[in-house]
Amino acid sequence: MASGSRKVVLILTATLVIAGLGYFFLWIPTMRRARYFAVVTVCSSNLRAIGQAIQHYEAAYHDWPLRYDDWDRRLITAGLIEERDLRCPVRKDKNYHYHVASPPTTRPALTGNEVLLFEDPNAHWGYSGNILYVDCHVQSIKLDNYPPELLKWITAKGSSQ
Ligand SMILES: [Zn+2]
Repeated sequence: MASGSRKVVLILTATLVIAGLGYFFLWIPTMRRARYFAVVTVCSSNLRAIGQAIQHYEAAYHDWPLRYDDWDRRLITAGLIEERDLRCPVRKDKNYHYHVASPPTTRPALTGNEVLLFEDPNAHWGYSGNILYVDCHVQSIKLDNYPPELLKWITAKGSSQ
């Protein structure tokens, strides 16, 4: 009798452990997906904040900040963005920041499809990268659909700016 009830407890425990493991493995992809979307959202909001800071800078100083190599420092000094806005949350390298699209000397017309800043197409775990357009909208673009002119630019300049 005692060994019978022990067997039942053992079977129940094993069932619970297996069910628990199954549940855990089912949730892994969901958690990964949630983490991916959280990162893309933070990265998009960083880029949008930088886009708005660039516009505010231009309005306040009548000058296009992206024509300077230290455009990021200028925006921080002007109090328009914070240091943490300058990096994709996936990138831990402190020297990494978003690429400036060329030519950055003058503000492009507000057509909406002119790229201001972008990141490596594989920035988000090899899956996608974000692009900031002149009208401050941000697009998350998958590696396969990345604009060829930006890929060419990255190849020419080297990917870790
Ligand atoms: Zn990013």
